Amino acid sequence: MAGNLTLDALKLAAAEGRIDTVLACIVDMQGRLMGKRFHVQHFLTSAHEETHCCNYLLATDLEMYTVAGYAATSWAGGYGDYVMKPDLSTLRLVPWLEGTAMVLCDVQDHHTHADVPHSPRALLKTQVARLDALGLTAMMATELEFFLFARSFDEIRKSGFRDLEPISAYNEDYHILATTKEEHVMRPLRNHLYAAGIPVENTKGEAEAGQEELNIRYADALTCADYHSIAKHAVKEIAWQHGHGVTFLPKWHKDRTGSSAHVHQSLWTKDGKPAFFDPSKPHGMSDLMRQYMAGLIKYAPDYTYFLAPYINSYKRFQKGTFAPTRMVWSIDNRTAGFRLCGEDTKGVRVECRIGGSDLNPYLALAVQIAAGLRGIEEKLDLAPAMTGDLYEAQKTPQIPRNLRDALSALNASSMLREAFGDKVVDHYLRAGEWEQEEFDRVVTDYEIARGFERA
Ligand code: ADP
Repeated sequence: MAGNLTLDALKLAAAEGRIDTVLACIVDMQGRLMGKRFHVQHFLTSAHEETHCCNYLLATDLEMYTVAGYAATSWAGGYGDYVMKPDLSTLRLVPWLEGTAMVLCDVQDHHTHADVPHSPRALLKTQVARLDALGLTAMMATELEFFLFARSFDEIRKSGFRDLEPISAYNEDYHILATTKEEHVMRPLRNHLYAAGIPVENTKGEAEAGQEELNIRYADALTCADYHSIAKHAVKEIAWQHGHGVTFLPKWHKDRTGSSAHVHQSLWTKDGKPAFFDPSKPHGMSDLMRQYMAGLIKYAPDYTYFLAPYINSYKRFQKGTFAPTRMVWSIDNRTAGFRLCGEDTKGVRVECRIGGSDLNPYLALAVQIAAGLRGIEEKLDLAPAMTGDLYEAQKTPQIPRNLRDALSALNASSMLREAFGDKVVDHYLRAGEWEQEEFDRVVTDYEIARGFERA
């Protein structure tokens, strides 16, 4: 069980007046928690079975706009309901909110009660089931990077997003002194998440002023994605409670390092043996691991959209910034898209460094499992590891340069179309196209400042 509360324990907590509110949440396409706040008694008498939400929640953009062009959901279709089916194994306390518990819900068709295929949780469950059929489990961990600001969300918004002063004054990578000054936010974050059943390993300063990293212990893929979504939500709420704004934008300033969401991954057998480890092979990498990694690398262009879903995501891929630009692998070398970690140990694993802090973890993990599985099915050969400064690795495949290129690669991906079905791929293509269309429509500050007088 990934949560830390049973229904019986919730009943007791309600009877004793310790819990009065239950958040029932789905995860939307952007990876956000969306849902309702239930009085605990109504949750216990009825909503723990199911509740409902408008089906536009899996077809909006960040602004909650009703985007046209989706086959699944539209004005013509009347924007009906989806079922929100609580996954009671995720029931947990929300210690940073008074008297509150939370449950994550699967999104189901209102009539058939089948999982809605383009719902992020369903997408990941489908790929986990494919691994399961092979007797394998994916163990994964996502690193959450973000920036913490001196002022609150409201103050920053009222300044037109100009008053963006990071909470610290200098690069705080591994910096104990700088991070001590941020403990009024980061300590409650670690402790509240831990008390919510999310096994936080640590937080640390990252490679910029005000940049933070949160690490959570690896878990099976669905649990890992659940942890990530709840933790990201908690970062925003706990920062807000302390009067600070945070951002998970991958690149909020052109001169500052970007924020990523690296994904560590390894496959295990059902009886808990690390299937990536073979002590008789170079670096302790089993044949299965080599094939999985070869699939991850070969199909990286196909799935980059899911690791970098917005216009801004692509601004992060700059050389000399620790964000990768090349789809190559290396041994413990942070300039590559894929880094081998834990070589020659049972913890041997691959870290995909492409994803930005704005990724939806369910989608990001699902597409990587699909790519790795295809590598296993095709028994792909893994090219030799690369060494040196891989920003300079000419003639190696590059990460798509922008959203348009990533969307073209997604559209053309037979691997993802076979793994998820055309309807799901077309749904997300539409989401990506909309981001591009909206951006193409606006006139940016940059264009005005550059051309107003001089053009
Ligand atoms: P780093 O030196 O990159 O910070 P860590 O040892 O802190 O590496 O691990 C980074 C992440 O990898 C952590 O979240 C950890 O739980 C996860 N991790 C460790 N072992 C494995 C594994 N075998 N499979 C997947 N993730 C793992």
